[in-house]
Amino acid sequence: MLNVKCFRCGKSFALDGTVVANWLEEHKEEHPKHYSAQCHFCRRVIKVPVKQIQRSLPAKED
Ligand SMILES: [Zn+2]
Repeated sequence: MLNVKCFRCGKSFALDGTVVANWLEEHKEEHPKHYSAQCHFCRRVIKVPVKQIQRSLPAKED
């Protein structure tokens, strides 16, 4: 799981690492800089830096 903090309401919540990893895999050719996640509390969409995500995910060999 990936813990992110909502900039709007300040609460932390966890993203499903598998879902995010799949999303990154699908979009890798676009080299996205952010992943859009919806806050579980206030429903605001927040942008999570992909670099932060990649640090949290298990390293993967290509
Ligand atoms: Zn929030």
